[in-house]
Amino acid sequence: MGNRNTAFESWVEKHPYLREVAQLQQVMAGVMKEHPDREPIDIKPASLERAIGRGIPVLREIALDRWVIEEAANLFLSLAEALAVAKLPPKIVQGAEQIRSLLSKNPDLAGPLIGEVITANRVISDHDSPDGEELDKDFTLFLAWIVLARVLEPLKRKMTPSLTGRRWRRGYCPLCGQLPAMAQLVRTEKGRERLLSCSCCNMKWEYRRIGCPYCGNEDQDTLKILEITEEPELRIDTCEKCRCYLKTYTAEGNEKVILADWTTLHLDFIGKNQGFQRSGYQMYGV
Ligand SMILES: [Zn+2]
Ligand SMILES: [Zn+2]
Repeated sequence: MGNRNTAFESWVEKHPYLREVAQLQQVMAGVMKEHPDREPIDIKPASLERAIGRGIPVLREIALDRWVIEEAANLFLSLAEALAVAKLPPKIVQGAEQIRSLLSKNPDLAGPLIGEVITANRVISDHDSPDGEELDKDFTLFLAWIVLARVLEPLKRKMTPSLTGRRWRRGYCPLCGQLPAMAQLVRTEKGRERLLSCSCCNMKWEYRRIGCPYCGNEDQDTLKILEITEEPELRIDTCEKCRCYLKTYTAEGNEKVILADWTTLHLDFIGKNQGFQRSGYQMYGV
């Protein structure tokens, strides 16, 4: 954990514009490191195999154990409580305070809120905060994904055997179904491979080396790379067919930091400035 923090700190030092979002991450990490890992015992490997074999994201096919939802609901409230009193930008503190206040008056609401995110990837109910203000839906969704990414760690590990041997070479996340936010080139015994990374649940999976994961385009003439001169281990893969970009880490060793998505907001800025759009869910605004 110490090394991990140092790696994040030195990255933020080199990218000082990330300081605010790094402080947010630090408060959330402090709460989440106390959270214990528990195996999702009710989910059988055969059910995972079946969903993955049919190309269906696990969360769309398999109901989570009730206690997983309960744990997520508890962690959701703990995070809102911590952020509501943290020294962070007012928009975050207010968003967290609204959630905290709503859940303290309606403790049974956290479970359904988390459930809505899993089934619809949005907060669909009109849960107003007690003082009449509307809940910040984007922030609520953001926080719910942070919680799910953490609580679902054991399930992600449980899925690994079903994903090996190129069983899931699809352009969407095998766990939650979202489109990838980032990619990483890695060395395997089969040569260089590409991993895709989901910014919602933080799942990683193998994908073919060449081609746009958003539209399937494989025409080299319309797949271009934007190099980042100051950071040669980073690049932006663009597709002129669907006009999307994919942030890519071309090295290994610092993936915890770089694939966190919020650490490469400058690449989102460059990609959009060049007229491309982000297809993966946008957890952090630029
Ligand atoms: Zn995902
Ligand atoms: Zn494309």
